[in-house]
Amino acid sequence: MDWQHSTEDDSHLELSIVLPCFNEEGNVLPVYERVSAVCREVSWEMLFVDDGSADGTAAAVEALARRDSRVHLLRFIRNAGHQQALRAGYRAARGAHVLTLDADLQHPPEIIPSVLAKAREGYDVVQMVRAGEQTGFLKNFLSRSFYKFFNSISDVPIIEQASDFRLISRRVCDVLNALPERNLIVRAILPYLGFRAANLPYAPADRLHGQSSYGFRKSLQLGSQTLFNFSAFPLKLAMRLGVLISGLAFAYGIYNVAAKFFGHRNVPGYTDLIASTLFLGGLILVYLGILGRYVLVILDHLKRRPEYVLAESVPAAATGPEDKPRVKSPASTPPDASGRPQGRQAT
Ligand code: UDP
Ligand code: MG
Repeated sequence: MDWQHSTEDDSHLELSIVLPCFNEEGNVLPVYERVSAVCREVSWEMLFVDDGSADGTAAAVEALARRDSRVHLLRFIRNAGHQQALRAGYRAARGAHVLTLDADLQHPPEIIPSVLAKAREGYDVVQMVRAGEQTGFLKNFLSRSFYKFFNSISDVPIIEQASDFRLISRRVCDVLNALPERNLIVRAILPYLGFRAANLPYAPADRLHGQSSYGFRKSLQLGSQTLFNFSAFPLKLAMRLGVLISGLAFAYGIYNVAAKFFGHRNVPGYTDLIASTLFLGGLILVYLGILGRYVLVILDHLKRRPEYVLAESVPAAATGPEDKPRVKSPASTPPDASGRPQGRQAT
């Protein structure tokens, strides 16, 4: 269930800071202190999303919230995952900008003033990009290989070194909150939506306390979710492979028939068997590919991603039913955002 905290007056709240936490007991106080030290000039709220921690994370946040009313806790009853924690934070955030950063202090809060400065220049998304290696060689290698592969088959590229350290404007937050899609991968949907984005480099720090919970299994899960939610390539591959195999089998059959006429002797029955097996195998793949295309159409309907997001409508009242933004935003949202072609499908 969505949870929304009440604030007396949200209109002056400039910044919501969302911190997903999974067993971050030792990091809660340090991250609070470092973030609040650099945010003196702005009005802010801090939303700790406890993603089913087994340690004292929630108690540490509660203790902070008693001292400082700008601190809030959202607690999941079980571990739902980092992306879900981000989503819950976006839904509860009330500020004019929403910044997400890891609670383990790998995302240095000291760059928040430059992030806000970029946002004030008019960027809807300020994406922090790792300027150095954050993890071990193997994890980096696998992650880079994945993004290279993904970007080569997707028409909406994801920046390889982009993390979940980013700031989004209120209107982007409203558009994200209105998306009905489950298991949303924020770093992939933002380039898809196409809001104006700026990249800011940052040097990742070491985790302050505790251990990374993004092991091989979780990283693989995130990778496959990104691939299957944002690319139709694996389904389309069946069709391409099928056409190739059937085509080759057909050509092989023709070649052997021709060869026989010119006096070549083949093992009896061999050509028929191989050519027909390969041809049928290819045909099955083609039909899997065709089925896949229908599955994609169904998926596209189910996901109900916006076909476009309006940049603006002038005059606002003149929009007819067809021109209304497909993304229904909460009542407070102005009907504006960036344009998008209709009926697009993931590639
Ligand atoms: N996290 C979360 N739920 C999870 C795993 C991680 O909310 O199931 C949080 C975690 O507390 C941290 C951020 O997501 O604030 C990044 O996780 P982690 O540091 O373990 O990953 P890494 O930085 O090693 O990729
Ligand atoms: Mg980390």
